[in-house]
Formats: sequence, C-alpha cells, structure tokens
Amino acid sequence: MLTFKWNKSYTTNIATVDEQHKMLVSMINKLGESIYSQEVLSPEILDKYFENLALYAKVHFKDEETYMAEHNIDSRHQEAHKRAHIMFLEEASKLYDGVKNKLIGPEFLFHFLANWISIHILGTDKILAKQIAAIQNGSTPQEAFNSVQEIVDETVAPLLFAVNQLFTRTTNMNHKLMSLNKSLEEQVTLRTQELQQVNNTLKAMALTDTLTKLGNRRAAVAYLQNEWKKPFDDRVTLTCIMIDVDKFKHVNDTQGHEAGDKVLALVANTIRDSVRNDDFVCRLGGDELVVLSNNTNLVYIMQLAEHIRSKISKIRMEFPSDVWEGSVSLGVAQRDKTQKTYIDLLKKADEGLYKAKENGRNQIGCVQSFGFQ
Ligand code: GH3
Ligand code: MG
Repeated sequence: MLTFKWNKSYTTNIATVDEQHKMLVSMINKLGESIYSQEVLSPEILDKYFENLALYAKVHFKDEETYMAEHNIDSRHQEAHKRAHIMFLEEASKLYDGVKNKLIGPEFLFHFLANWISIHILGTDKILAKQIAAIQNGSTPQEAFNSVQEIVDETVAPLLFAVNQLFTRTTNMNHKLMSLNKSLEEQVTLRTQELQQVNNTLKAMALTDTLTKLGNRRAAVAYLQNEWKKPFDDRVTLTCIMIDVDKFKHVNDTQGHEAGDKVLALVANTIRDSVRNDDFVCRLGGDELVVLSNNTNLVYIMQLAEHIRSKISKIRMEFPSDVWEGSVSLGVAQRDKTQKTYIDLLKKADEGLYKAKENGRNQIGCVQSFGFQ
C-alpha cells in the first residue's frame, strides 16, 4: 500500500500550514489503511472519512488563501493557487461519487488524494513559502514572485510539469474508466430489462391459448394448484364451470375447420364478457372451456352458468351453407372437503357436464347438492 510518509522536504516553515498539512496527510493515510485493510469498508464509514477529509481540506484551503491575502502575495500566484484548490475539491468529489456508485474502487480515490497533496505541497505550497520568505527579506510581492519564478523555472519547473502531465493523464483515465463502467452498467441494466420482458412474454405465451387468447390448460392447472393451497372454507370456496360446445364437430365437418375456429373464438369471448373480473376463464382444449372462481359458492356459480348458457343460446352465426345456433352444456362443481386435489374438483364438474349432455344438451348439470358441506 502506498502511504504518504512525512519528511522535512514537505515543510513550508509556515507553522499553521505545516500543522494542517500533517493533519491532512494523516487523514489520507487513515483512509488508505481502511481501504487496504482486509475488512470490508462499509459505505457509512467511507462516507464519514470522506466527509471529514473534505471538511478539513476546505478549512485548510481557506486558511491558506487568507494567509496569502494577508501577506500580499502576488495576485498571479494567488489566482493559480486558488484554482488548484478548487480543482482538487471538484476532482475528489467526482472520484468519490464514482466510488459510491461502484464505478471505480476506493483505491483510485486514495491514489488521487495522496498524490495530489504530495505534488501540491512540494510544488505550489513550497513556492508560496519561498515568496513569503523573500517578502520578509524586503522584496515586494512582485519581486518575490519573479525571483521564485526564476529558480522554479530552472530547477523544479520541468519536473513539476512532467509530474503534472502524468497526473492529468491519470485523472483523465479515471474519468474514462468511470464513464466506461457507467455505460457498461447501463447496458447491463438495459439487457436485463430486455431479457425480463422477453421472459414475461414467453411466460405469458406458455400460459395463453393462441386461438381464444384465454388462459390454456397449463394456466388453469397453475391457478387451481395455487387456490388449493388456501385453507378450505365451505361458505366461500373454489368453484368450477366446465363448458363444452354442443355438436361442435358438426360445424367442423360441414363448414370447415376455420368456421369451427370462429365459433370457438366467439364462444370464448361471450364467456369472457359474462364473468366477473376475478373469475378466470381458460380453454382446456378442443371445444372445452372452464370458468374458475374463488371466494364463491354453488348458488352464485349456478346463476353465472345460467347467464353464460342463456347468452350463448342467443347466438346465431351464419356460414355460407348453414347457421350455427349457439348451444353449450355446462357442468358446475364446488370444492368440498371430500376432494383431495383440484383434479377431484374438475372430475365433479366433468360429471355435471356429462349429466347435462345426457339430459339433452344446452343446459347445466350438477352432481353435488346445494347444501353440501
Ligand atoms: P358434444 O355435443 O358431445 O360435445 O359433441 P361435439 O361434436 O362437440 O363433440 P366433441 O366435443 O367431442 O368434439 C370436439 C371437436 O372439436 C373435435 C375436434 O375435431 C374439434 N377441435 C378440437 N380443437 C379444435 C380447434 O382448435 N379448432 C377447431 N375448429 N376444431 C377443434
Ligand atoms: Mg363438444
């Protein structure tokens, strides 16, 4: 791990400035230790460290800027120095946001902080210290600025320039990395959403009957299995109306399969329009449909079955050489305590349907008694 080791080369000989620099360095090192320790750094702790550091940096910058103003430092230096402070706060905040949003690791932030403070003290702050010394030895602020500039130009300037270049490159690369990670994350989110949509469509397709757009047998079974998990209550229970089109084969045989499909679609729509929102209509297969209802009873379901029968019996569907006169048979049943699984309920409704067919079709059959417990 990179730690910032304080040595005398960092000393500016401005007591408060040196004091505050040491404090900043120790805060940055503390953050570094936490980042590189094996423990997982919680977002709350990281927040606390960063908040304290940012707060302290602001106080220090303000003190340094007041100090420069009080000592009449040449305005060219003051301006450049202030810009450096602003850039530090902006860049550190940007990187910290990147860390918080998991676009970069916290070590990127630490490297920036440690390197920036080191370059800033050795460069800008030491140049300030030299100007203060020159002013104290009788130079005007402008003379102090110019004389320091000469030394700096000869010796440290090329080095500082190179380091700054390197630093700028790293900073730019950090930005690139953050925006790359961000767009990667956005793409992953987008792909996940798309996949979710495809999954939902596939799920819906797997449970939908293509001809009638009603639920299919799989959907009916899923509904029944789910309802069956609820505790049995004979006052409000699960009911089933099994519906089969009468003499449907005749339509197919005389008018063709397409005509048969039209009849099935119309029957399906009529049933869908006759039930409550809570009732679940499915096509079990062929010309057989089912209405599943919860929280109800045989009396209600008998009325609903009669409503459906009556509506369908009024249909007249004309074909080129024939007319289909609506007619369905219905079997009704409710869940009772003798039934072990939903299959027993379907069987009871089937028995009712068989009875309706036997008795002449276009009617409702039920093999359970109304007072059944
Ligand atoms: P019943 O009154 O006894 O019900 O007589 P039915 O003629 O309706 O006899 P059944 O219910 O057994 O006939 C169902 C027919 O439905 C048989 C099959 O050819 C036809 N069928 C099954 N699926 C489809 C489909 O998707 N479209 C069409 N057009 N016909 C289908
Ligand atoms: Mg039929």
